[in-house]
This record gives sequence, structure tokens and C-alpha cells, in this order.
Amino acid sequence: MRKFKTESKKLLDLMINSIYTNKEIFLRELISNASDAIDKLYFKSLTDRSVEIVKDDLDIRISFDKNARVITVSDNGIGMTKDELDKNLGTIAHSDSQAFKDENAENQGDDIDIIGQFGVGFYSAFMVASHVSVISRAYGSEEAWEWESDGIEGYTLEPAMRISHGTDVTLVLKPNDDDEDYDRFADEYELEGLIRRYSNYVRYPIKMNITHSRELPKPANAGDDYKPQYEQYTELETINSMVPIWKRNKNDVTEEEYNEFYKSDFRDFFDPQRVITLHAEGQLTYDALLFIPSHRPYDLYSKQYQKGLALYSSNVLIMEKCEELLPDYYNFVHGVVDSQDLSLNISRETLQHNGQLHAIARRVEKKIRAELVDMRDNAREEYEKFFENFGRGLKYGVYSSYGQDKEKLADLLLFYSAREKKMVTLDEYLSGAPEEQTAIYYAAGEQADRLAKLPVVNGVLARGFDVLLCTEDVDNFALDMLMDYQGKPLKNVSSSDLGLDTEDEKEAAKVIADENKALIEAMKEALGDKVTQVVVSTRIADAAACITTEGPLSLEMERILSSAPSKNEEYKTQRVLELNPAHPVFEVLKDAQAAGDSEKISSYADLLYNQALLMEGIPVEDPIAFAQEIAKLMV
Ligand code: ADP
Repeated sequence: MRKFKTESKKLLDLMINSIYTNKEIFLRELISNASDAIDKLYFKSLTDRSVEIVKDDLDIRISFDKNARVITVSDNGIGMTKDELDKNLGTIAHSDSQAFKDENAENQGDDIDIIGQFGVGFYSAFMVASHVSVISRAYGSEEAWEWESDGIEGYTLEPAMRISHGTDVTLVLKPNDDDEDYDRFADEYELEGLIRRYSNYVRYPIKMNITHSRELPKPANAGDDYKPQYEQYTELETINSMVPIWKRNKNDVTEEEYNEFYKSDFRDFFDPQRVITLHAEGQLTYDALLFIPSHRPYDLYSKQYQKGLALYSSNVLIMEKCEELLPDYYNFVHGVVDSQDLSLNISRETLQHNGQLHAIARRVEKKIRAELVDMRDNAREEYEKFFENFGRGLKYGVYSSYGQDKEKLADLLLFYSAREKKMVTLDEYLSGAPEEQTAIYYAAGEQADRLAKLPVVNGVLARGFDVLLCTEDVDNFALDMLMDYQGKPLKNVSSSDLGLDTEDEKEAAKVIADENKALIEAMKEALGDKVTQVVVSTRIADAAACITTEGPLSLEMERILSSAPSKNEEYKTQRVLELNPAHPVFEVLKDAQAAGDSEKISSYADLLYNQALLMEGIPVEDPIAFAQEIAKLMV
């Protein structure tokens, strides 16, 4: 007996015992695997001449035995070798076991979500089966192997017999219990219904023996009182429609049908948030069916994630993930594009130069954007949920490629408004701004509630201007790249010249600065090159001092860049220490200067500088020295 890996066991247990409400989806999962296995063989035949298959022979078969309470799903796809059986079915979420653990640590209690996030399709068989056998023969191999398990501790692998390539998955149903009548699955009518419901658009025929009855010929010697006699017979029939759902008139397709197609084809456990259909005729005729998922795939922002739409030419799948059809910032969209005008032997190399494909991609992009705009304007709550899932990608879109797509994305962005205490678009921000406001203000850092307390934020709010509180790493970079919106520049409130001061304020600050020239110079000297300037501030009300920056780099950008694995010394901000002349500390500093106490000035300069860093959420450079300085003040 080979044992399941520890995390597999945990996950297996989780899934068997938690998706109790919808056990019937096991069939969809097994059929999808069968369909994938046939796809793999079919694709191999396209590139490898030694693979000879007859396309019309490719199919999936479902059979059952009511008395033995057994169901079998068979395919004549690529099959699995012994090693593949061991690797693919021996470890749940094989490639993702570490990711599973990480996610699991965060998501305690959110079982369904975890299951939805991993390729655990095959194991859903154990929701209804007490025993599963998989007999498989890989294409091109002489031998077949049988994998068997009761889904608890482990599994066995033994040599087996199979006439040709493909896989049979056989389930022995669990005994009925109070919650579930498992008998119902070994039933022709039930299975037929499940296939139609969940797997109707699988592109290979799903065949099953269907019982019919027919009248027996009337015997020649039948008397007048003869009653017609019937006999039952079975016939192998294709159950699924196979007519691609995107080719049907959208008014004839129910929401449920779209949802089931999505879940079965794109392996999601949840309904999509939006379904987008597109039909184009003219120079280029094509249909597209697109889905916006209702949750974020766990690996969306990882390297493994592959964006793209399935590409068909006249119902024949030519590529599973055609990247060229989606811009990176819409990488979360799933769907298919089908065009009779595309050549079947389109290859990866020719794709990039395919003008037709570019034309389709442009239209697809416009259509997705229109859907998002519609959601933003007419279903705000839904849009906010969408943005929580995928907004980060849109912001990357603004930032990447030197901002070449920013115009198409800026109005889709949402940020948290410090004044409104909710998410707002940039347009909403501007529409709430007083006439004299000349810029859009934002603050960037790790936590919104902390940002809301920053002196520089309060300074801007006090002037009657709202501030966007940005807490994602990408925010500061995206807004910096955006530069302006509707003619208004975007300004980080921590930048040293916000341009908000009135002439009077500037004059007053200048007078104070001139009066305290020696003090300010002494502080600058004490701080050395930690700061480029020490100035008298016009903007802070409640704190003794704050730090702002000159130049293009903000403190938040510095924090993010210096936490990246490849540290780069060049990412250093030019910091300015701003002193609040109305704060009692300023009086203390003045007194020290008057008394010629340069040690005190130097120590206080350091304390103020470090305090200001702490408020910004930036670690002080020498925490021990800082603590000792404070302790000195206490005794
Ligand atoms: P997923 O299909 O999401 O990768 P599964 O747990 O359903 O996860 O299946 C694990 C792997 O087992 C598949 O990726 C595939 O390689 C293999 N597999 C499952 N069913 C079949 C089948 N009928 N024929 C060939 N390979 C299969």
C-alpha cells in the first residue's frame, strides 16, 4: 500500500466531508478529466505524425450496474503510465501542496474555497464512492496499470489489462446514509440528467446505453383479444449536445446553462460573476463567450498562472490558452473565441503576426471594458467585489509598459477615500472636490487606518480636500505613472512641495525660519545626510514634526523597493524634516538654541526624525539608540 502524502490526506478528508451539498458534481469532474485526456491525445496527433487516431472514434463512455452499485467512466484518451498514475493520483494538489498549506493557514474555516482553488477534481469521486479503481493504459505503451483506493490512507498499483489506450474510472458507491441516497447515481435516468446538466458542451461524445422499449411484431396466430407486447432493448447513444454553447442564440441559453458550462470547462466550483457574449460578422466572423470569475484564483498572481482564451476554428479547438487574445490586465477572464475564418494550422509563431487575431483581441478587450463600466455604473456593490478580486491587476495595467494603457484603465480604478470612508473612482473624487482644488491627493502606506492619522494627510483634509488612502504595493507606482487625471495632477501628500500653502502662510513660515535660522542649521547638521533639508512647516497641526520627500521617490516606494529581494542602494528618498512651529516642542528647541545646548538640539533632532519615520511606518535606523534616548528623557 502506498500512502497519500500528509497534506493530501488532510485535503481529501476536507473535501469528502465538506462539499456534502453537491456530491453529484463528481461526474462532471471525471468527465472533464476524460475530455482533457482525449484533448491531450488529439493535440499530440497534430504535432506527432506517429500518433494515428481517428477523430470520430474519440469518445467518453459511461456505464453502470445497478445491483453492484458501480459506475464507470471510460475514455480513449492519452491514458497514464504507472508513474503518472502514481504521481497524478497519489498526491492531491500535487504541484500546489505548499501553496495549499500557505493558503490553508490563512483561510481556516473556508473549506469550500480551498477546494475550489485546487485541481482536486478526481478526488471528488470519493464524495460518493467508498472504493475507486482506475485502470489506465498510456498511448504507445503495451502495459496497463490499475490504481485502487478507498480514499483514506493510501492506494495500490498493480498490473492490469486494457485492450487499448485510455482510462476507466470505476466507482463503488458508498452505502446510503441519512444524508444521501447514493443508490440514485447508479441509475440511467439520473446519470443521463447529470450529463446533460453538467457536461452538455463537452466536445467529445459522452455515450451511454439507453433503454428503450419497442412493440413486438404481432404473431400471425394472434387472436382478437391480442394485446400488444413490448420488449426492452438498449442502444448506445450520445447524451451531450456537443453543439457549442457559444454558437447558440444567447436568448435561448439559460443562465444556468452558461454557469454549468463555465464550471465544467474552466474548472471552477463557483458560478461566474459575469457572462459576456460577442458575435461579430463581416470581414471577420466569430463568436466569443467570456466569463468574469466570481473569486480570485489562488495562483492568479503567480508565475504558473496562464492567461488566455480557448481558440476554436469552426468548433475545433486549436489552442487551449491563446494569450494574444487577452491583455495582461484582463488575465482573469476565461472564455472561448471561435472563428470560421481562422486557419486551423495556426501555430504559436504565426500567432503574433496574425492580424485577424489582433482584431478579435481588440474587440474582446473593448467588450470586457464595457462590461466593467456597466458593472461600475449600474451594480456598484458587485463592482466593488470584482475590484477586490481583480483590481490589483488593473492597477498593474496602469503601471506596466510605461503607462501605455493607462487611459483605458484609469476610470476603472477604485481607491479608499479618507473623507467618504468608502471606495471611490477618480471621477467621484473629483466631483466631490471644491472648485479651488487643483490636484488629486493620495497617501500610500500599509494600512488605511494608519494613513488616516498621518499629519500630512490631516493637513490636506483640513484644507477641505479629500485624500485617497492607498494600501497596495502597486498603488503608489500606478498613480505615479498615471501622473494626472482629467487634467488634475496626482500628488502624494508626503511630497515636500504640495503647493497648498497660501502666500500668507509661506510668508509666516519664512519669518519663523529666518528668526530661527541658527536652530534649523544646527538641526540639519545634527542629522547629516539623513535629510536634505530641515524646514518650518505650514501644513501640520497635531504633530511636532513630519517627514516629507523631495524628488520622484516617495517613502512608500522606497519601502517597497528596498524590501524586494534584490536591494538597490539607489532607491533612497530625499527626506525633508518639517517642524511644526506651533508645537510646544518647537519652543523647547528654541530655548535650547538660546542656551547654546547643542547636545540637546542634536539629540532632539534625532528623536523628532525617528518619531516621524515611525509615524510613516518606517523602521528607525538604530532602534536601540532611539530607545536609550527616550529613556534618558524619562529619568
Ligand atoms: P486536475 O484535472 O485539475 O489536474 P485531477 O485531480 O482531476 O486534477 O487529476 C489529476 C491528474 O490526473 C490530471 O491532471 C491528469 O494528468 C490525470 N488524470 C485524471 N484523470 C485522467 C484520465 N481520465 N486520463 C488521463 N489522465 C487523467
